[in-house]
Amino acid sequence: MILQELGWNDFFAAQLSHGTPGRVASAIREHFLVWTEEGEIEARPSGRLRHSARGRKWPSVGDWVVLRPHEAVIEQVLERKTTLCRKQPGKEVREQVLATNVDVLFIVSGLDHDYNPRRLERYLGLARESGARPVILLNKMDLVAELNLDLDFILTETRKLALDVEVLPVSATSGDSLDRLPVYLSRGETAAMAGSSGVGKSTILNRLLGEELQPTQTVRFGDDRGRHTTTSRELFRMPGGWLLMDLPGLRELQLWTDIEQLDHSFDDIQSLAKNCRFRDCSHLSEPGCAVRTAGIDERLANYQKLQRELAYLQRKSDAGAAREERQRWKLLEKSMRAASKSQNKNRER
Ligand code: GDP
Ligand code: ZN
Repeated sequence: MILQELGWNDFFAAQLSHGTPGRVASAIREHFLVWTEEGEIEARPSGRLRHSARGRKWPSVGDWVVLRPHEAVIEQVLERKTTLCRKQPGKEVREQVLATNVDVLFIVSGLDHDYNPRRLERYLGLARESGARPVILLNKMDLVAELNLDLDFILTETRKLALDVEVLPVSATSGDSLDRLPVYLSRGETAAMAGSSGVGKSTILNRLLGEELQPTQTVRFGDDRGRHTTTSRELFRMPGGWLLMDLPGLRELQLWTDIEQLDHSFDDIQSLAKNCRFRDCSHLSEPGCAVRTAGIDERLANYQKLQRELAYLQRKSDAGAAREERQRWKLLEKSMRAASKSQNKNRER
């Protein structure tokens, strides 16, 4: 891979004195997928980094890092051009880095029921603070006729709050205006998409990537105990020489738990999984999967979505906040159990 095509430039080159530069394309806890000149590698943080760089200095998706020569070990995180961060969910005032080195932030909103000017304002604030240039995408333009929406009015209202920020109606389904997105970027620049769950970020990404690239979106990391974690890749190289990052729905970032805890809430899927051909089946594309054929498509999709969001959150948070959120999750889990119990009762009746 050519570093410039991954976003490498003079700003980062000036900081490099030794080692091999690479860009973090995916990160979960202490596993990092790093793009280097030699290709994609799975890297771990050095012991020194692990002890000194909790919080803001911890490698994040989008970061340029320095690898130990000839080893898959991250020694240093280079200074960032931009940092997307938010307040960590919970009572404590703590910063949470979501992504770094983003040049353009596409704030995605649906023109349907998801349209919410207050939320757009919040995202604009996030973008402005980060240093990234925001662009507002109003997706699902194809629904305007069907839902009898007044597009002109919505555009006028949005432009009022957006001030000098561009507002572009698009449709991920029909592909309308998606070809305009690269116009906002120079070669080698990085864009990120932010927006609530359901606004169409994955659909936009897939549409831009083209179908044949989709299977590469999933990354699997093996841990020391031989278990596997599946997460989604978050940085993508786009045809045309730019990069696009997918950030999970920020509203859902309030939800936090261990992957293991989540599994408990989807016990039915765990039971079905015992009949999958592969013990560590991720129920995405493996042959002989017993979960994918069980007729619970929506539940499975939601489970996988939550898994991805949690994996994303898990590596963003530190132990203290994790404990607090886990407590919250336990309560939620209890209420989910109760709800499913009463559902079953109703079914028996
Ligand atoms: P994400 O959570 O932001 O990644 O949203 P998804 O990409 O998963 O999309 C959520 C739902 O909206 C899916 O059912 C999509 O098919 C649908 N969707 C996405 N983009 C469009 C669009 O442009 N038009 C219409 N009509 N539906 C869309
Ligand atoms: Zn399976």
